[in-house]
Amino acid sequence: MPVHTNFEDGVAVVTFDHPPVNGFGLAVRRGLVDAINASIEDTTVKAIVISGGGAMFSGGADITEFNTPRAEQAPNLHDVIAAIEASSKPVVMAINGTALGGGLEVAMAAHYRVAARDALLGLPEVKIGILPGAGGTQRLPRAVGLEAAVNMIVSGEPVPAAQLAGTRLLDQVIDGDVVAAAVDFAGTLDKDKLPLLRQLEVEHANAEAFLDFARNGVAAVAGAFPAPMKCLDAIEASFRKPFDEGMAVERAGFISLVSSTESKALRHAFFGERAASKIADVGKDVQPRAIKTVGIVGAGTMGGGIAMNFLNAGIPVTIVETRQDALERGLATIRGNYENSARKGKLKPGQVEQRMGLLTPSLSFDDLKEADLVIEAVFEELGVKESVFRQLDAIARPGAILASNTSTLDLDRIAAFTRRAEDVVGMHFFSPANVMKLLEVVRGAKTAKDVLATVLAIARTIRKTAVVSGVCDGFIGNRMIEQYGRQAGFLLDEGATPQQVDKAMENFGFAMGPFRMGDLAGNDIGWAIRKRRHVEKPEMIYSKSADLICEAGRFGQKVGKGWYDYRPGDRTAYASDEVAAILEANTRDLGLARRRISDEEIVQRLIFALANEGARILEEGIAAKASDIDIVYLTGYGFPLWRGGPMFHVDQVGLYNVLAAMRRFARGYQGASWEPAPLLVELAGQGKSFTG
Ligand code: NAD
Repeated sequence: MPVHTNFEDGVAVVTFDHPPVNGFGLAVRRGLVDAINASIEDTTVKAIVISGGGAMFSGGADITEFNTPRAEQAPNLHDVIAAIEASSKPVVMAINGTALGGGLEVAMAAHYRVAARDALLGLPEVKIGILPGAGGTQRLPRAVGLEAAVNMIVSGEPVPAAQLAGTRLLDQVIDGDVVAAAVDFAGTLDKDKLPLLRQLEVEHANAEAFLDFARNGVAAVAGAFPAPMKCLDAIEASFRKPFDEGMAVERAGFISLVSSTESKALRHAFFGERAASKIADVGKDVQPRAIKTVGIVGAGTMGGGIAMNFLNAGIPVTIVETRQDALERGLATIRGNYENSARKGKLKPGQVEQRMGLLTPSLSFDDLKEADLVIEAVFEELGVKESVFRQLDAIARPGAILASNTSTLDLDRIAAFTRRAEDVVGMHFFSPANVMKLLEVVRGAKTAKDVLATVLAIARTIRKTAVVSGVCDGFIGNRMIEQYGRQAGFLLDEGATPQQVDKAMENFGFAMGPFRMGDLAGNDIGWAIRKRRHVEKPEMIYSKSADLICEAGRFGQKVGKGWYDYRPGDRTAYASDEVAAILEANTRDLGLARRRISDEEIVQRLIFALANEGARILEEGIAAKASDIDIVYLTGYGFPLWRGGPMFHVDQVGLYNVLAAMRRFARGYQGASWEPAPLLVELAGQGKSFTG
């Protein structure tokens, strides 16, 4: 039974249990209402204590009921709250641990609350693009005041009970056994005086000025998301209107938000991130290997950043280089990064040395003998990878996982350099590796299931979002971005400027358009890849513009000029006359007349090219599900979160419309690049979507 009642000295102690987070699923809701009604009828009961079993009070709604009719089936959350408020006997909530969302809303229905000092209380709904829809926006301001309520609801961040002591939200904040304290407290209560939060006034010394201030602040941070402002509207109603009218404002806000694209996108991202770590053929029975020590080969840009992830998690790292100077440079960069963080107050004094103390520099592969996981981040050349993996194979202990950070090379070929292909996996970090959330986990043909399970587990430890990709050139993310880059180049051929393309993509929501991005990453990297492609895949056609820019030495910010001009000490991208002249000459050489291209066409060509390649990636089984692709783009490529990722976005546009646009583009310049993926054609034909 998810809900059971014990009796102690005339107090009914109702406990609800629904692992993992005590979500208010239908059975819990029914059980609670029944237990409350039974306690009211039971003449031996003087008061009711309600607590969550296990370590937390409640994480709120049961997410397995999301988007199902069960979520609204009676008794729904409102009915549970009404039953508590209607109780003729005092109800005391014993908040033993986290009370979030619906968990806190239910707790606020009771007459009294007793909380553990370290319990976390919050209303995080704004993070999935909605607002607390079970009275949270009306009761919390009455409980903690206008300002604290705005802070909690608009940020969605939980607050420790200790910080809320002394407010009307918590009658007692205690150390020790919360349920025992709540039972003692309940025994002292007078049943003729039952305060409800809904009966209180919202307090604030200078509410009008504060609301004005809050409105400006929320508008500035909300960006494209409507939820923060709707939260504020509902909270404002708690101050201006009677409780029931405030509830109507909350309800209306909830309904408009829950069907908004932004909220759907956030929920898609929320569930997509959880789904990404579930691999169909790797069940819970697959035991991950223990990772206590990590080895890293190569202390360059990536090796150093990768090492920091493990040091931050308290895992010792041995880092191996070929030359002393390279090793020292790598170490100095890591130390420099930590010292920077310490200067900004992000690390406490002592933490720099503590983390550096976990790092062992070495010039010998022998020092990797004991490592449980070795990650290679040496030059991107198959010959160098071969030498490294042969050495690792010779020295690594049996069962050690051998990972490569390669961005483009064939992982199966790398695995074949060892006699233990089952222990080889790709761990494709993104630069800067200590900052970027995304980790593409590349599953080779022979990668063992427990190796995959281990890498997914360690990704959680180092706070990365892992997405599994099959082996192909560029894996999920870079393979798709190549098509995006190709279209950006073709647009230049036809007369668009880098500024126009970047602006259009930035207005769409990317932090940086493709050309500013190229200048940041270094245009020479793409140049080298294209040179290889011209040999390996001559059928893949690119605009010449990027090569012409590189031939002019315009490698990007690092040399002070790329698609844009840069001034010393200034990262602002200034339009370049030289680039304009190069591009105009290129268009002339191609025999094209420069045409005016709309921002809408720019966005469609770049995004539809991404999604079309994404469809092929799905077809080939490189990605297991469309949401995996979206998570790659949201966490690794700056795709605007409120648009949900490329696959989710084209679903919103409608695949029929996407296909029609692609067919139109196919009749234009470089139309051959618009061959639609069969999966896209199939889904569009059936009126289906990738993510729906
Ligand atoms: P880098 O040139 O900055 O660093 C490579 C380091 O490896 C150098 O310090 C070099 O001295 C060292 N090295 C070379 N051969 C070695 C050997 N045999 N043993 C030990 N050390 C050796 O390169 P990087 O940018 O850090 O890239 C490393 C790998 O990461 C490449 O496979 C690259 O494709 C991949 N990668 C790079 C990025 C990026 O943005 N830079 C992103 C993802 C993946």
